[in-house]
Amino acid sequence: MSATLLFGGRVVGFAPIEVEARDVVLFDGRVKSADDPFPTTSTIDCTDCLIVPGFVVAHTHLYSGLAAGMPPPPGVTGTFLQILERIWWRLDRALDEETLRASVRVAAIHAIRAGTTCLIDHHESPNFIDGSLDVIADELEELGLRACLTYGATDRHGPEGARAGLDESERFVRKMADHPTIRGAIGLHAPFTCSEDTMGSAADRATLHGAWLHYHAAEGPDDQQVARERGVGGLFAQLEELGLVHDRTIAAHCVDIDDREAELIRERHAWVTHQARSNMNNGVGYADQHASLRRVAIGTDGIDNDLLAEVSAAFFRSREATGPTGWPDVLQMIARGHRLAGEVFGEPALGKLTQGAPGDVVVLDYPEGTPLDRDSLAAHVLFGWKGAHVRDVFVGGRPLLRNRRLVGIDGRAVLEEARRAAQRLWSRMEAL
Ligand SMILES: [Zn+2]
Repeated sequence: MSATLLFGGRVVGFAPIEVEARDVVLFDGRVKSADDPFPTTSTIDCTDCLIVPGFVVAHTHLYSGLAAGMPPPPGVTGTFLQILERIWWRLDRALDEETLRASVRVAAIHAIRAGTTCLIDHHESPNFIDGSLDVIADELEELGLRACLTYGATDRHGPEGARAGLDESERFVRKMADHPTIRGAIGLHAPFTCSEDTMGSAADRATLHGAWLHYHAAEGPDDQQVARERGVGGLFAQLEELGLVHDRTIAAHCVDIDDREAELIRERHAWVTHQARSNMNNGVGYADQHASLRRVAIGTDGIDNDLLAEVSAAFFRSREATGPTGWPDVLQMIARGHRLAGEVFGEPALGKLTQGAPGDVVVLDYPEGTPLDRDSLAAHVLFGWKGAHVRDVFVGGRPLLRNRRLVGIDGRAVLEEARRAAQRLWSRMEAL
């Protein structure tokens, strides 16, 4: 078995913080100490480059890969529910196998080019449910990304639709239990579109398989409003009662939660994801409780899968909301994504470039003009690093991008085909 030696660069770590000139060896899918003997067959010159752990996007929607440039739908006046009804719930209904494949390819290629090595995805395609997660997994396996996939079950299309969504997640969880880079989770769209039966069934199925749960919660005002109508004593009180809040839970957004709910999330060690750009785009407000949560990871909610862009937006939005004295810990924002993915994949060293860690590595061609050390790292991440600096990407030791070129994939051909698929998808949306 051959090894890859990345030499001449500086290794960056986010937790613990590290900036150190040392070589990295990738062997048998993992990071190996450069001090031990190894059979090198490929060497990569990283002079003037930074070698960093690949980025994790903690909540995304690969199905929206063909949404960039999409014509604006008529009649959106601005409420969050209208944005869902007129845009995203039409897009997901218009998806079939072919357009889903194209969406995933486009989104995954952008992710790789931005240095993202792991995606935690939340999928919906109500007219193509059974087997949809296999389609996403096929494409991601071919491109080489690590991912955790789920289907967001919902009662929007009746109880049969909800059951089909849960069945798809459960089938996929079982199928992928031992897969090295792709995992399944049990998913729900959001409490306001799910019956209590559906939510309870999701919790039961997750418990049965020891699986993770991934759902939207309190993104806009609708979840809390429906919880009030249901008379359940609050959104998270109900989620807790149904067994949906624990340390294998990923609750996306949680913008509209109160102190008591934040306390419950902390007590139950549930994960929350933060998507500043999506929140601003949908006008749902600032997620002011997130500063008090330790298990918060950064997602993109389907926008470009560029973690550096998202972290930057989260930083500036936070400064705007809390004033210039607050300095959100951007290194922790990145590191917490690693921690979440490490828990999902049972790989506690994921996100560290230490002996035995998964070989998920990015090389940044970042010729800095000011000193870069442990103290200045956060400011370089915020004000210097861009996705455009990503030169090489490896997942599990496999090269996905070398010298800014996709490995083993004709990116131009993929994107050309995707543009045709996008036309078909947009036409179908117009007809709905
Ligand atoms: Zn989302």
